[in-house]
Amino acid sequence: MRGGRKTPLYRKVNTTAHGVHHDHGGDYRDARSQAHGVSAPAVQSMGAKRRRGLDYTPLFRFLLSKVGCHWDAVHSEAIARLDREQPIHWMVDVHPPLGTPEPTLRAGESSYWSRLYVDENKLLQLREPAQDHSTMRPFCACCTHTLNGVPLTQGYDAERP
Ligand SMILES: [Zn+2]
Repeated sequence: MRGGRKTPLYRKVNTTAHGVHHDHGGDYRDARSQAHGVSAPAVQSMGAKRRRGLDYTPLFRFLLSKVGCHWDAVHSEAIARLDREQPIHWMVDVHPPLGTPEPTLRAGESSYWSRLYVDENKLLQLREPAQDHSTMRPFCACCTHTLNGVPLTQGYDAERP
């Protein structure tokens, strides 16, 4: 591979290798995704559009590494290394969203990623620059939550809203 120029920004995963997922229940999961961020699995659950077994973690890491860069260049490179464009928009708002923008994307049961947007100068920016793995709070006691691949340092506290 010459410099890994065309390395895909997704990986195939064996869905049976994930073991038993902690199940929060459908209603709770929906409520939580609405409260805490855009949810990639919710998009995937739309019947015919479902695609199992692709993990876009390399894309999320790639986009985070491009904060401050010009969107046109980032976008063309990402498109060239993806099977489809949609996962880019799980993480990046190219146009101002309707309503309050979501600060995080949830991928899988407990992996969160900082969401991004394209600013008026067409530069990629973090939605919530102050948020990191030490400021974000987990949403339950039973899962190991991560933000941008790093485990959260705060414990779950049911007493705090
Ligand atoms: Zn849990």
